[in-house]
Amino acid sequence: MSLKKRYLMTPGPTPVPADILLSMAKPITHHRTAEFEDVVKEARAGLQYIFNTQNEVLLFASSGTGAMESAIVNCFCAGDSVIVARNGKFGDREKQIAETYGLEVVDLEYAWDEVVKTGDIARELAANPEIRGVIVTQSETSTGVLNPIKEIAELVRGYDNALMIVDSITGIGAVACETDDWGLDVVMTGSQKGLMLPPGLAAVSVSDKAWRAVERSTLPKFYFDWKKYLKSIEKNTTPFTPALTLIQGLNEALKLMRDEGRENLIERHSLLAEATRQGLDAIGLKLFAPPEGRGSAVTPVWSPEGIPAGKIVKVMKEDYGVTITNGQDDYKDRIFRIGHLGYFGMFDIITTLTALEMALVKLGYEFEQGASIKAAESVFLESAH
Ligand SMILES: *Cc1c(COP(=O)(O)O)cnc(C)c1O
Repeated sequence: MSLKKRYLMTPGPTPVPADILLSMAKPITHHRTAEFEDVVKEARAGLQYIFNTQNEVLLFASSGTGAMESAIVNCFCAGDSVIVARNGKFGDREKQIAETYGLEVVDLEYAWDEVVKTGDIARELAANPEIRGVIVTQSETSTGVLNPIKEIAELVRGYDNALMIVDSITGIGAVACETDDWGLDVVMTGSQKGLMLPPGLAAVSVSDKAWRAVERSTLPKFYFDWKKYLKSIEKNTTPFTPALTLIQGLNEALKLMRDEGRENLIERHSLLAEATRQGLDAIGLKLFAPPEGRGSAVTPVWSPEGIPAGKIVKVMKEDYGVTITNGQDDYKDRIFRIGHLGYFGMFDIITTLTALEMALVKLGYEFEQGASIKAAESVFLESAH
């Protein structure tokens, strides 16, 4: 076989549907025009739908980390105390950014296979009345753990000076994220995840409570100054040259997401995640995230004894054209991660499990061949669709 068809099965970047790619293939137009104002207007409404919010959602030409940094510099002053609850690589990054800007971090560190405990946050908030923010990653992409954002937000709402800041970069579009109903002050996502776009665009929703914190904030900012973006977006434009092409693509993505509907979108991801988990379990592999906190964006799984995860990733990619991804930091080569975020359907899961089984056969792992496919098929057959 010489033609190698490629499959991108990672939790970011994620595959981009053809309709979205085509929507970005138009000639570049100028951004200070009435036409582009219509494009921004459409994006504003679509983002509010997908974030479940009436808040304005600001758009930056940056990767997701830019959105994370923007939240710190816009909401706080040097010396402010914030709780960072972290159980993975992206939580670690939140702590690093907060410390970079001189915040006092109340560090709630958990093992990577643990869920953030609401009770710990309750205790810290009660003990430190000066806390100005609680920062939590909803869907930890490094571990597949889903943190209880709704419960934590309910607590934070009781504190007038504290903001609930959520990295939902692989949450939005994959799991429920009810920005307004749950009272989330800042919610972030990035284009190369659930939005099914190429990398390069980040979005942040900002509540009224957060805007009050912005008025108080004295940290330096220029490119990521939210007030500039608000002033512009209210006129359907952007303060700097926007990622025009990506925003065109965003509108197509938002249209696809609206057509599917928020609830169906979340239901589809939960089904894909369940089929993946059942498939892996059926061939004796152990899931990394604990049962009480598993998200739907990515499924990390322990590599079998004696087989480094990197080898599985390599065989799947080089021999079968299927790209999954290794564990990160301490879990590199110990776990591997299968993405099912964004433009994924049943047969992406079947394909990935098949390539995984074939790689495992090559690498000498013993199991009942075909069992993962059968298990995944059963999940799909039992679902209503
Ligand atoms: C991808 C991701 C980010 C941002 O990463 P970038 O590479 O800057 O886009 C942040 N948090 C989570 C949970 C992510 O999955």
